[in-house]
Amino acid sequence: MRNMFFPMVILLTISLAACKKSADGPGETPQTTSDNAQKVRAYIRDLGFPDNQVVENQHEFIAEGDIVFPKDMQVPAGKVKTEQFYTGSLVSASNVTNIRLKIDASMTSMTSEINSAIAQWNSLANCSINWTIATGSSYDVIIVNSNLGNGVCGSGTFPSGGRAGGTIRINKAYIAGNSFAQRARTICHEMGHNVSFRHTNWSAIGESGGIAVPGVGGTDASSLMNGGQCGSGATVLSTKDKQAAQALYP
Ligand SMILES: [Zn+2]
Repeated sequence: MRNMFFPMVILLTISLAACKKSADGPGETPQTTSDNAQKVRAYIRDLGFPDNQVVENQHEFIAEGDIVFPKDMQVPAGKVKTEQFYTGSLVSASNVTNIRLKIDASMTSMTSEINSAIAQWNSLANCSINWTIATGSSYDVIIVNSNLGNGVCGSGTFPSGGRAGGTIRINKAYIAGNSFAQRARTICHEMGHNVSFRHTNWSAIGESGGIAVPGVGGTDASSLMNGGQCGSGATVLSTKDKQAAQALYP
């Protein structure tokens, strides 16, 4: 008679292999398996992003083409409320005054555009948002070149746990033909996501609700945070964008 241990090992190995296969298997829709990923998925739904505008990959969910939610992000406690529009999860008062942005080697060719975007955020009066370029190995946000496919200029990441979203991806080859001002706009726009800004034109592009920044609601054709305007949108933060930044980060 066989020792019982051997078949158990085989069984375990088979079931692990089966499990791995389903997670990594064919198709582009990985399973949302972890508890935290389920919470992140529910959070995205609470924020009002329609399911048909959310794409899932192995490590993250992406809403409206350019807003990244890492599956391991810290989901804010409590129910989110939904209005110039933010996520309800802000960068903490102590962190927002020095958001260290690391320029990955793949993005150094756009350092001038990055500095232009930083200058827009940092020049706001009565607003504590302050970005700095990280020169050492410590940083809060890294900006990297990434092939995001046709039609997507870049992506930002919403903040969690009081920290700015950790990654900004720029589709460098795709935006290379745009003007300097439009390339800088893309970077400035994604930076806005990393400090909690949503798309100002959320209702026009199908979101069911957003949290209005107190005192700064409504649509704004000149908002740099309008979505779906890659290469053609506003290149400077609008009056309402500025008011929203001041209200969120006084
Ligand atoms: Zn966006």
